[in-house]
Amino acid sequence: MSEKFDVIVVGAGPAGISCAYELAKAGVNVLLIERGEYPGSKNVMGGVLYRKMMEDVIPEFWKEAPLERPVVEQRFMMMDKESAITVGYKGMEWGQEPYNNFTVLRAKFDQWFAGKAVEQGALLVNETVVLECIVENGKVVGVRTDRPDGDLYADVVVLADGVNSLLAKSLGFHKEFRPDEVALATMEIIKLDKKTIEDRFNLEENQGTTIELFGDATKGILGTGFLYTNKDTLSLGVGSLLSGLIKHKIKPYELLEYVKNHPMIRPYIAGGEPVEYLAHMIPEGGYKSMPKVAGNGVLVVGDAAQLVNAIHREGSNLAMKSGQFAAEAVLLAKEREDYSEATLNHYKTRLMSSFVGQDMKKYKDSTHHFDKFPQYFEKYIPMANKAMSQMFTVDGTSKWDKQKKIWRDVGTAGEKLKLARDAYRAWKVMK
Ligand SMILES: Cc1cc2nc3c(=O)[nH]c(=O)nc-3n(C[C@H](O)[C@H](O)[C@H](O)COP(=O)(O)OP(=O)(O)OC[C@H]3O[C@@H](n4cnc5c(N)ncnc54)[C@H](O)[C@@H]3O)c2cc1C
Repeated sequence: MSEKFDVIVVGAGPAGISCAYELAKAGVNVLLIERGEYPGSKNVMGGVLYRKMMEDVIPEFWKEAPLERPVVEQRFMMMDKESAITVGYKGMEWGQEPYNNFTVLRAKFDQWFAGKAVEQGALLVNETVVLECIVENGKVVGVRTDRPDGDLYADVVVLADGVNSLLAKSLGFHKEFRPDEVALATMEIIKLDKKTIEDRFNLEENQGTTIELFGDATKGILGTGFLYTNKDTLSLGVGSLLSGLIKHKIKPYELLEYVKNHPMIRPYIAGGEPVEYLAHMIPEGGYKSMPKVAGNGVLVVGDAAQLVNAIHREGSNLAMKSGQFAAEAVLLAKEREDYSEATLNHYKTRLMSSFVGQDMKKYKDSTHHFDKFPQYFEKYIPMANKAMSQMFTVDGTSKWDKQKKIWRDVGTAGEKLKLARDAYRAWKVMK
């Protein structure tokens, strides 16, 4: 089976599929290799799919793609043990074409998306693991698979193999990721009657809500939880940096059980039946953890390139955009008949000058900052909850006196100064 292709894409997630789709559309002979039984069978996402980047690949995809609900409301809950401060936005404009984003179930969505790449002419091979890149004279020239006689050759290999990217690591593009560079998330898909979902989340048919959970959802460890509405299921999950889980000696499934029983979440899922349990890593090291993304005959896209904006829970969209840029660089290399790093670096230039690179740079210090200073999640969220409770409890105390008490409760002059300094630092790393 030592066949030669123009391009081999390893991994059929959003990054790999969009790259294969664009290349096949342009008439390139592309092979898409997936280790799972089918694309999506191993993939996990909360799952908000962003319309714009998907539409850049397949216009008006929402008319045929297997989507769950268009999201019309985004809420953010800052949770303490028995309370939560909730902010959010609901807008009817998000419920109409062209929409803002959708909830999806990746097992269905990736399968459909890969089918579209195949329609364009890509060759999809499932249940095949790429074991290593074949390197000759300092250039990647193909891949070794776990199939008998499974060496395959190509002018370019695109590594879209997700968060761990053992392949990029074996090329020396990055080291083993540290526990503070990756998060581990667990989630359940909970079956619930469609009408019950709409009543509980105040939705009409074909409308969806996303709720991001902070603070006590992760027992104060740096991380987030999420609760998203699908058609007749809910996606509930929670994830934290590995370093936080190790430090606090908490197992990821314990966090999920905790959040399921939290008084702010329990009523939403009451009576629901868990039908799927999933766990996956998320690259959260940000800009400073990005590996080398282009080499001689090779490109690295999506999670494999650490392209996740953890602050905005964006990953699939960055993956798709990077896949498109990689395809663009391959087409340029093909035109020049030069697959060297110098030409393929066009990908990096496009990536870093787009919103992908800009957003990665914008939040380059944020995860590390909140990891280094745990008081934001451990102390300030409970403090804000207590302040809200005091302010809105009607007990005959004047509002001025309440404000004074809240301010007193912040602590000593030194603690107040620390709060002000932390607020300034948070603004600095997010601005
Ligand atoms: C719990 C959770 C919630 C998330 N929520 C959101 C969200 O709401 N919105 C959002 O945009 N992003 C979200 N993300 C992030 C998002 O899922 C990823 O950023 C996105 O899937 C990255 O796409 P990818 O194609 O790079 O990688 P993946 O989707 O991981 O795809 C990699 C593919 O490569 C295959 N593969 C790996 N190694 C090999 C090999 N050696 N040989 C062959 N095949 C291989 C895998 O089976 C897989 O199909 C979430 C992630 C998690 C874990």
